[in-house]
Amino acid sequence: MKLLLTGCTGFIGRELIPLLIKEGHSLTVISRQSKGKIQTIPNEQNINFIQMNPAESSSWDKEEIQNSLKSCEGVINLAGEPIAEKRWTTDHCKEITNSRIETTKNLIKSLRNLRKPPKVLINASAIGFYGSNPQTEFTEENIQGDDFLANLCKEWESSAKNKPRATRLLIVRIGIVLAKDGGALGKMLPIFRAGLGGPIGDGKQWMSWIHRTDLCNLINESVKNSAWSGVVNGVAPNPVRMNEFSNSLGQVLGRPSLFAVPAPILKLILGDGARVVLEGQNVQTQRLNKLKFKFNFPMINEAFKSILA
Ligand code: NDP
Repeated sequence: MKLLLTGCTGFIGRELIPLLIKEGHSLTVISRQSKGKIQTIPNEQNINFIQMNPAESSSWDKEEIQNSLKSCEGVINLAGEPIAEKRWTTDHCKEITNSRIETTKNLIKSLRNLRKPPKVLINASAIGFYGSNPQTEFTEENIQGDDFLANLCKEWESSAKNKPRATRLLIVRIGIVLAKDGGALGKMLPIFRAGLGGPIGDGKQWMSWIHRTDLCNLINESVKNSAWSGVVNGVAPNPVRMNEFSNSLGQVLGRPSLFAVPAPILKLILGDGARVVLEGQNVQTQRLNKLKFKFNFPMINEAFKSILA
């Protein structure tokens, strides 16, 4: 299929793009960066590259992107400013929001103008949708929480739901994605390898994680399988608490997991953004079970073993 991708030059995209190419799709990759700067994109003939900022509405008027849209059969929209990398100042929160909401609104507006819209749109969201309540086990049935991230996810999803009627929509509420070259684990690994690792905060918060390979497989499956629509939680079936996450990581690495990172230190670095790491949520997926999705890595220690092999 001809697929158009936004936000696929980063941590998830760097495994997703090679998988989609292997599956025989031809890709149009949208990025704010110039092609030469992105090392993660293979130099393949069936990748068309468009440099533009998807959050700026005027970029979507360009002939190049309009032509790509006309022939595209599927869209994967993952674009968004990183959430837990910087302090949540007012400006940064605006960037976190606009990069997702404006991009999605611009994309949907362009799709609605097409005579023949794409068959499928896969749109990212996050388990932050549910807010954080340590007593609740969340499934796709739960309603949204009430904090910055929950409201952001709600608006992100509502913008995507405005897609053309003929386009099948799958929203993936993504959990903590695990791979060694980025994300939460990428940050923890050097500290653990140095023997200085340990749980963050009080260690009781839930970590609803997914191996990056499983996430890419589920996105790939949803491109081709028309039974996949609505919302799925992109999480493995066995979430763990931070203490278990960090013990298991220490064990697989053969390193101690003794040095807890106190919550106030993280709050000093990330401000309100520290809540993403300190609060967590216990998320299950009923929909992926019903769709009979087969996880390669349902257990955290198996995921770590494969990632660190
Ligand atoms: P990365 O930060 O690695 O990549 C983000 C992508 O979004 C890049 O391709 C980048 O494209 C684009 N982007 C970044 N900032 C902006 C901006 N200000 N305006 C427009 N586009 C921007 O993220 P991941 O690959 O980890 O995640 C992809 C999506 O999945 C994100 O929306 C994220 O919120 C969501 N998600 C990820 C989780 C995780 O654990 N990794 C968990 C839950 C949700 P370029 O620079 O090429 O323009």
